[in-house]
Amino acid sequence: MTLVVNTHLFVSRQTPKWPAVKLLATLFISLLFLTGCFSREPELVTHQGLTMGTTFTVKWVSEKASQNASLNSEINQILKRVNQSMSTYISDSELSLFNQLPANQSADISSELAYVIGLGMNISEASSGAFDITVGPLVNLWGFGPDGRVVKAPTEQEIETTRQRVGYRFIQLDGNKLSKKKNSYVDLSAIAKGYGVDAIAELLEKNGINSYLVEIGGELRAKGLKPNGQSWRIAIESPVATLDRTVHRIIEVKDIGIATSGDYRNYFEEKGVRFSHTIDPNTAKPITHKLASVTVLAETCAEADGLATAMMVMGPEKAKAFAESESVEALFIVKSENGFEEFMTSGFNKYLVQ
Ligand code: ADP
Ligand code: MG
Repeated sequence: MTLVVNTHLFVSRQTPKWPAVKLLATLFISLLFLTGCFSREPELVTHQGLTMGTTFTVKWVSEKASQNASLNSEINQILKRVNQSMSTYISDSELSLFNQLPANQSADISSELAYVIGLGMNISEASSGAFDITVGPLVNLWGFGPDGRVVKAPTEQEIETTRQRVGYRFIQLDGNKLSKKKNSYVDLSAIAKGYGVDAIAELLEKNGINSYLVEIGGELRAKGLKPNGQSWRIAIESPVATLDRTVHRIIEVKDIGIATSGDYRNYFEEKGVRFSHTIDPNTAKPITHKLASVTVLAETCAEADGLATAMMVMGPEKAKAFAESESVEALFIVKSENGFEEFMTSGFNKYLVQ
């Protein structure tokens, strides 16, 4: 269609002699034909799979189809590498090897692991220990780690003994050297998904892709626009444990990391009491306040992920004050007598579309 209309316009506007017209027209038609063959409308490509005990989805606006297959395999490699470095579910991961060291030992770790541990330690400091990357032994004791589920709460005695190992100040990062003063155990589960998202985003950008949506287990990073020119829209789900997820809010974002922490998917119940997978390092027990979920926006997804867990520990009032003092935007959903109530930081409003 386009080709016919253009040729017609071209010919009708010109009056040179026939051979010149013929030559030019042929060239023009050939050019249109060539560009028709080699440049395509940008296409939305999706690559999905399983990682870190959950699902991942990567969508990007592709202008070069030839790139897509190798991007798929590089994404898989990144996820494999991050897991082999940071997972506490893999017994010979870099992190697990450090965790198996006795007190007063150190290990030389990869720059990637050092970066994530450094970020985790900064969030631990900034949140005054609400977030604590050494909380793992308590996470495991309460049945939310690689040792598997429990059906009843541990005893006070078990809690007391286990908490002796916990405290981010007992580990030290010096460049790529990580040391422990106690038999510490580092758990990056609250931040590694976010980091995986960032690592994939970086790969896409290195390959000249500036419009994408990367997601691992609900932690996301978005950049640019969809092929139809619209912004990416993200649904924030209602904090209920039903199988079919219901939408609480929809936000529209550009160039940002987004993470949600909640107490509504990962928990166990004993005698009607719900024990969440978020542990308050202060009490050494699962959180008990009314904050059901918090969604955080930050420059990187790793930061958003870590901060969301930190705020989930703090509870509604402290978390809102913390978000404001750290200048991060957040949306909080709190359990109330008649369902849920929400509140948000002053700048979160501008992202809402529904
Ligand atoms: P989700 O996206 O599944 O809600 P989070 O990002 O909130 O997950 O991380 C939850 C995980 O973080 C827990 O399963 C546990 O391994 C770890 N965790 C629990 N409490 C803390 C804490 N206070 N500080 C750091 N990590 C924690
Ligand atoms: Mg988190």
